[in-house]
Amino acid sequence: MRYILLFGGNKGNVVETFAEAERQLADFARITRKSSLYRSEAWGFESDDLFYNQVVEIESDAEPLAMLEALQQIERSLGRTSKSVGGHYTSRTIDIDILFCDSKIIESERLTIPHPMLHKRRFTLLPLCEYWSEYVHPKLQKTVLQLLCECDDKGFVEKCS
Ligand code: ADP
Ligand code: MG
Repeated sequence: MRYILLFGGNKGNVVETFAEAERQLADFARITRKSSLYRSEAWGFESDDLFYNQVVEIESDAEPLAMLEALQQIERSLGRTSKSVGGHYTSRTIDIDILFCDSKIIESERLTIPHPMLHKRRFTLLPLCEYWSEYVHPKLQKTVLQLLCECDDKGFVEKCS
């Protein structure tokens, strides 16, 4: 299966943390493509630390729930302690979200794919557009580029590598 992931983080040495996450991912997945690194302002809460985001495409045989668990294990090993509570975001070393898995649609208690917020967030859509602009969102039936054009989020996002 092809998964498209989003790394995010704003605490500690984020660049080094992302590199370590990739090393751990390589144990059970093949990394097939990565976007540049992007910086964005904190979304939904006040923070002095800019967020970093990066889209990472992988190939893996792991089923979606097993993938989610493996990604959460990586988050924990890299020092992520706080969970988002009630839609409130907090500073974190690393957050790994599953954006897409092939063209699957999954809506279960623990897992929603495509990621339910991806079309509302410029910090997700802009890095996605680097290589996946023609990817069709299986639920909304629009390309990532269309979603970016229609997105109201005016948050600051810039490419930084
Ligand atoms: P957020 O990513 O919104 O900041 P968390 O990383 O703390 O918040 O995730 C909260 C929960 O979201 C996780 O426990 C997980 O079960 C759930 N979740 C649902 N869909 C997804 C997805 N596509 N990718 C990652 N987590 C997801
Ligand atoms: Mg998450």
